[in-house]
Amino acid sequence: QVPVITIDGPTASGKGTVASKVAEALGFHYLDSGALYRIVGLVCLRANVDLKDIAAVTAHAMGISPVFAGGRISLGSEDITNVIRTEDVGQAASCIAVIPSVRNALFELQREARREPGLVADGRDMGSIIFPDAELKIFLTASAEARAHRRYKQLIEKGIDVTLDDLVKEMKERDLRDMRRAHAPLAPAEGAKILDSSFLTIQETVDKILYWWVS
Ligand code: C5P
Repeated sequence: QVPVITIDGPTASGKGTVASKVAEALGFHYLDSGALYRIVGLVCLRANVDLKDIAAVTAHAMGISPVFAGGRISLGSEDITNVIRTEDVGQAASCIAVIPSVRNALFELQREARREPGLVADGRDMGSIIFPDAELKIFLTASAEARAHRRYKQLIEKGIDVTLDDLVKEMKERDLRDMRRAHAPLAPAEGAKILDSSFLTIQETVDKILYWWVS
């Protein structure tokens, strides 16, 4: 059985950065499952699809075949690494993520990422639905303020123009939608270790997970 570490948690809890650093430290592959939902969101926005149109959104979800290589994500010949990070795409992602058939369409794509020598998977339901038999499950949280500040810094660095107030509002909206949905709601998986990173640096958070992994 190929080992898996799952890292789930709310928006901007630092999952992505932490998960990729843990993967790097262990020489494991890294799955950014949120990127898949974001790609479906992006494709639907571009095609002017009504995000509540289950059949149309599912068809788009079934049709994506992104390539993850060298930290970049491409779709066809286009590099979409940065476009999928906008709040608009994040909102669209959380809207389409409530549709069970969309989640099913992305199931295999996520399971296929489990390859030797191991995988670190980040998302909302990695430990509960996609890899329930994972060796180590983490639920990474941080206060809403800490998360908004982190996301703000990240977006400004990428040249994406936002205000902190808008960000806090959008983040809360998205978290509520993720927690309240009927299918695969955001919650710690059974057996998950809860890690609050509000007052930890990225490296301290990574080290804590690596410590759990070896002990
Ligand atoms: O993690 P990220 O913010 O990139 O995810 C974007 C959206 O995709 C989330 O708000 C959530 O609605 C959805 N998502 C999900 N299940 C996952 C990963 C992401 O529902 N495993």
